[in-house]
Amino acid sequence: MNYIEVFSKIYYELEVSNDPGKVASYIPELRDVNPDKFGVHLTTIDDDHYEFGDSDEKFSIQSIAKVLALVLAYKLEGEKLWKRVGVEPSGTAFNSLVQLEYDLGIPRNPLINAGALVICDILVSKFENPKQEFIQFVRKVSDNPDIDYCSRIANSEKLAGYRNAALINLIKSFGNIKNDIDVVLDFYFNLCSIEMSCKELSRTFLFLAAYGVCPYTNEVIISVSKSKRVNAIMQLCGFYDEAGEFSFKVGLPGKSGVGGGIVAIHPNKYCIAVWSPRLNKKGNSNMGMKFLELFTTETQASIF
Ligand code: GLN
Repeated sequence: MNYIEVFSKIYYELEVSNDPGKVASYIPELRDVNPDKFGVHLTTIDDDHYEFGDSDEKFSIQSIAKVLALVLAYKLEGEKLWKRVGVEPSGTAFNSLVQLEYDLGIPRNPLINAGALVICDILVSKFENPKQEFIQFVRKVSDNPDIDYCSRIANSEKLAGYRNAALINLIKSFGNIKNDIDVVLDFYFNLCSIEMSCKELSRTFLFLAAYGVCPYTNEVIISVSKSKRVNAIMQLCGFYDEAGEFSFKVGLPGKSGVGGGIVAIHPNKYCIAVWSPRLNKKGNSNMGMKFLELFTTETQASIF
């Protein structure tokens, strides 16, 4: 299929400049991004590439990185992981505090902020130099030594991180954070600060379309079973209180970030990454979601 033709047809149909969404404004690095940016890159499991627009421009991947932290923690910790974090959709905003109180500090899933903080705590416990070891893991998965944190963004995240500080304190009060909260928060803010282009994102996440194997190096990143489960969690929890909507309209496992990026996986076929910085009210890329809805409709291919 000529995906590039499909991309351009959908792009012109969407009229991105009339998008009513709003760019994230809680830190200057996100607030100052040109809202009209739009990129898409699809990588097939045979390493064929299809791209359109600003697909080579790096942006802040934000919460998309939570999936990579989950993959590494799951690989190291195995099924014990699920004692500390659930696998249920939360139906709440990404940074919500409400459920934690009655769930006694066990976050509903690893892709909301509360769950990602517990995952970060697990990684901090596992490594001598967590930030270093984690970025090395990301570089290995993406087969790209240039992927890095952005210290400016990590610093801004820290300055604006009141809710994340509230979340981690509440979880710690229930005993589900083992390390110093400042160390775990620092790791989390760095995780959010990783920058990639659509091209890099779609290459990085391709192993989840290839049953856990990195297609560039043939290295097993995680087992077939774990890869299936990570995809299941993305399907159910990747878009917070809009996960049902994404499943309903797009029909692929995926993950969004407040930088306007979305990755979606078609197992055994491809990984697609879209970037459009204006967000809808739920904090997901407005055009990114619409684009993927039209894409799976036009190509008549989803996992269902
Ligand atoms: N840095 C953001 C936060 O922690 C990430 C949220 C997101 O991308 N949904 O609140």
